[in-house]
Amino acid sequence: MQVSAKERIPGSFQPGEGSSVVDLRSDTITKPTQSMWEAMLHASLGDDGLDGDVGVRALEQEVAALLGKEAALFMPSATMANLVAILVQSRRQRQVLMEATAHIYTTERGGSTLAGVSYTPVTGHRGAMDIDLLRQTLNASRASLSTSLVCVETSHNNAGGAVLTLEHLREVHEKSAHHGVPVHLDGARLFNAAIALQRPARDMTVHVDTVTICLSKGLSAPAGAVLAGPHTAIQRGVSVRKMLGGTQRQIGIMAAAGLAGLRTMVPRLAEDHRRAIRLSTSINALDAGLVASLPETNIVMVDLGSTRHSVEVWVARLEGEDVLVRPWGARQIRCVTHRHIDDGALERAIAGFSAIASGD
Ligand SMILES: *Cc1c(COP(=O)(O)O)cnc(C)c1O
Repeated sequence: MQVSAKERIPGSFQPGEGSSVVDLRSDTITKPTQSMWEAMLHASLGDDGLDGDVGVRALEQEVAALLGKEAALFMPSATMANLVAILVQSRRQRQVLMEATAHIYTTERGGSTLAGVSYTPVTGHRGAMDIDLLRQTLNASRASLSTSLVCVETSHNNAGGAVLTLEHLREVHEKSAHHGVPVHLDGARLFNAAIALQRPARDMTVHVDTVTICLSKGLSAPAGAVLAGPHTAIQRGVSVRKMLGGTQRQIGIMAAAGLAGLRTMVPRLAEDHRRAIRLSTSINALDAGLVASLPETNIVMVDLGSTRHSVEVWVARLEGEDVLVRPWGARQIRCVTHRHIDDGALERAIAGFSAIASGD
């Protein structure tokens, strides 16, 4: 009996369908699209740990071509892709430089204990390392810890989705190359940055040696990431991925969803950016002591500093209004727009903020 993909899959839903809860916690919550389910149903089922899988190869080749790199490697997560990039490009007892609030530093730093390298933060502004400090650190590293890799991140998660300029990427690349140091780009949300800059992603990746992209954030695939870079780094990456337990078997299923995301989900990120601006300006217009960042991409940071309530109280009250957000430090909450936040959901979120603000 033929059963359509959607009938087989509980929990598959399109924007606006079903739940009345407005979930702004992260774009990671996005569910697979109908075309992803179809692609997964018909995916190739080779063993990626043995002879490889044609669907996985297709995804890797398409990402490499899109980002102007020689090769690419499918990964279970962006965290693992970043760690593999560090392990293949750094040596023990060296240091890896990154902006002080980079995701690799704030959230993935445990990886340094495996890599045997120091993750050294460089102070920056809106996610961009101070170039003078970077230059000084690279110079000083000859005397103390030598630097083996520099990491950049765009769009920048902790900087509220800020986008690095092409000029900044070019400068980081130039300063690093001067010291013979490669650059890795944590581009978990690279396509959000590309949409914001209105430039192809390769205009950014031309300035880096290796790059991570995540398939399971705004692109809506259920899981997966890709690391792209030179042949030599990617070849070493295959064995390092195996060492970390990242070799997967019939993973063509995930690659098929990822490829569908890559091919169909990028242009619509502009909608998320437009709604993030609407959310930000509406929250600021409430005049309730909330200060929302003006987003370049799909992340709105809301500073609660001059309201009377703590982050915990705001998060709980918003949940009472069916609006889910994430606490971000002691003074802020983070709201992320994505495919399941249509105009109606956004207005419900704004109404939720408004109800709490006016209830005071
Ligand atoms: C989400 C994120 C990651 C980690 O991605 P996972 O796929 O969850 O491991 C890495 N870097 C940045 C900037 C991110 O936003």
